[in-house]
Amino acid sequence: MSHSVIMLGTGSPRLNTERLSSASLLQMEDVPILVDCGEGATMQLVKAGVPPQKVKHVFFTHLHADHMLGYANFLISGWVEGRRELTIVGPVGTKKMHDLLIEMLEDDIEYRMSLGRPEAGIRDVKVIEIEEPGHVDVELPMEIHCARMIHNVPTYAYRFEKEGVSVVFSGDTAPPTDELVKLAQGANLLIHDSALTRIEGDQMTNASKIWENLQKEHCTPAQAAETARRANVDQLVLTHFLPKMDPKQAMVDAAEVFNGKIIIPKDLDIIQVAVKSPVN
Ligand SMILES: [Zn+2]
Ligand SMILES: [Zn+2]
Repeated sequence: MSHSVIMLGTGSPRLNTERLSSASLLQMEDVPILVDCGEGATMQLVKAGVPPQKVKHVFFTHLHADHMLGYANFLISGWVEGRRELTIVGPVGTKKMHDLLIEMLEDDIEYRMSLGRPEAGIRDVKVIEIEEPGHVDVELPMEIHCARMIHNVPTYAYRFEKEGVSVVFSGDTAPPTDELVKLAQGANLLIHDSALTRIEGDQMTNASKIWENLQKEHCTPAQAAETARRANVDQLVLTHFLPKMDPKQAMVDAAEVFNGKIIIPKDLDIIQVAVKSPVN
C-alpha cells in the first residue's frame, strides 16, 4: 500500500516564481485528491505527470484567492481533456464560487459543447458544502474528517484515512490549534501552514501592519511543530511560505520543538507517507 502527496504549490498569495500558491495532490493508493487549487495547480499536475482529467475530487480548505484561483482552469481544462465526473468539497460559499465560474465561462462551455463535448464533468459537478466539522460524507474509499481552523474566513483542516494510514492538511490557521491537535492525533503525515517564517529585507511599505494581522491567521514553524508534537504525528511538512523565507532557519525553529521527521518541500516535491511497521 503506497500513499504520497505531491506538493504542487508551497507558496502564499505573495508572487513568487519559485513557489506557487497552495495546492497539493494526495494520492491514497490510486485515488488522486486535489487539496486546494491555487493559481497554476493544473499545470503543476501536468508537470508532475498526473493528467488533470484523472482528478475527480477537489477539497478546498477555504476560499481565499491563493487556494482557489486555479480552479477555473482546472474546471475547464480537466473537462476538455476528458474528465466526466467531479465532486468538490469546501466551506459554505463553495457552491457560489463554482456557480459564478460556470456563469463566467458559459459561452466557452457552450462553444465546446457545440463541438461535441458532453455535459458530464462540467454541468453535473457535485458540490458538497461543509456546515459543521466532523465526518465528511463523500463517496471515496477512505474516511474523511474535518475540523474548523482559526483564520479570517471559514476554514477546515482535513484528515484522510485509509486502513490506518492518515494524512492531515491544516489549511491556513493561527494558534491555538487544539482542534487540529485532535484531528491530527497520531497521523502519519501532517501538512501544516507555516507562513510566518522570518524574512529578510521585505520591501512592502505596510509590511508591519500586514505582519501584525498575519499573527492572527497563520502559524510560525515552531507553532506548526508544537501542533505536530502534541498530536504525536510521524512526519511534519511545512508549507505556505512567503518569498525570501529561509528554509534552514525554519527547520531549526521547528526542530527545537518537534522530534519527528520535518520536511520543508519545494514545489513538485513528492512526499511518501511513511508507515511505521507495527512493534511486536
Ligand atoms: Zn487563507
Ligand atoms: Zn493561504
